[in-house]
Amino acid sequence: MDAEVLVIGAGPAGMTAALQLQRSGIRPLLVEQDRPGGALLNAGLVENYPGFPAGVSGPALVARFLDHHRSIGGEIVAARVARVSPAGNAWAISMSGQEILARCVVVATGTVPLKLDIPGEAELAGRRVFHELRDLPPETSGTVAIIGGGDVAFDYALTLARRGTRVSFIMRSGTPQCLPLLRERVAACPNIYLILNAAPARLEESGDSVRVHFREGGPEPVISDGLLVAIGRRPDTSFLAAGIAAQPPLWFAGDVVNGSFRQVGISVGDGLRCAMEINRYLRGNR
Ligand SMILES: Cc1cc2nc3c(=O)[nH]c(=O)nc-3n(C[C@H](O)[C@H](O)[C@H](O)COP(=O)(O)OP(=O)(O)OC[C@H]3O[C@@H](n4cnc5c(N)ncnc54)[C@H](O)[C@@H]3O)c2cc1C
Repeated sequence: MDAEVLVIGAGPAGMTAALQLQRSGIRPLLVEQDRPGGALLNAGLVENYPGFPAGVSGPALVARFLDHHRSIGGEIVAARVARVSPAGNAWAISMSGQEILARCVVVATGTVPLKLDIPGEAELAGRRVFHELRDLPPETSGTVAIIGGGDVAFDYALTLARRGTRVSFIMRSGTPQCLPLLRERVAACPNIYLILNAAPARLEESGDSVRVHFREGGPEPVISDGLLVAIGRRPDTSFLAAGIAAQPPLWFAGDVVNGSFRQVGISVGDGLRCAMEINRYLRGNR
């Protein structure tokens, strides 16, 4: 067996699972396809994670998780898991061109951002159009348009406004779906301009900027250096072979299974719980 436990994803859930497994004397293989930290790297100010009465930025909280992880000798392997399929009483894993066998698997792969699916989005992605704040380069941060209306979009608007960015905040409806306190903070920000009831129809590059065109009857096009799309997130478990269920020796933890209950504290709790269950499972099966 190459790994007794494979943990897929080094966000809050995966890092916590790995931490607790390590404490139980099980050395997990923790793999991450991108920068460790997951969705939390996008968060401007986390105010509901205990222990930080003044709040903490997502990247600062991730730095603490990583320090803790390293302090117990944990490692993170850079790899993307492309396939998990049953192999007798183990799992066959295909990751970044390598094939390995793992006895237990923790799927802590979080969520991916939803797309607008309008003309111009795919062509400009990574250049003028972004789906995660952490990917927004400084040169596109003078003026930024945000499309969305939930907590994440509001958090993005406030983070950018704090950095001095001029934000055009575009909502498809007239009613934001966010915490009232975020709405109040945005309303008090002089450099955030709200554009309500505006449904984007297509995106176009125009010199060094991006132009958002709206459906007929909508406002004039919005022009900005960059566009951030924050219209929701969904889990992507397409790497799991058909029919794989959440039962030992495979566990799910964090946002990947929590629907709209996407919170750091819940992911951390999930990671801890599944590590304790794995410890029990392996002790019973040794
Ligand atoms: C803007 C914003 C603000 C937020 N603010 C708050 C807040 O104030 N309070 C709060 O509690 N929560 C907040 N959240 C939510 C919080 O960030 C998430 O709930 C948390 O990060 C989920 O952790 P997770 O480990 O389940 O998933 P994620 O953080 O999504 O981590 C999953 C990891 O798995 C990796 N991965 C995925 N697929 C693969 C694969 N095939 N192979 C290898 N690796 C893979 C991903 O790259 C990622 O790093 C916010 C989120 C955002 C976006």
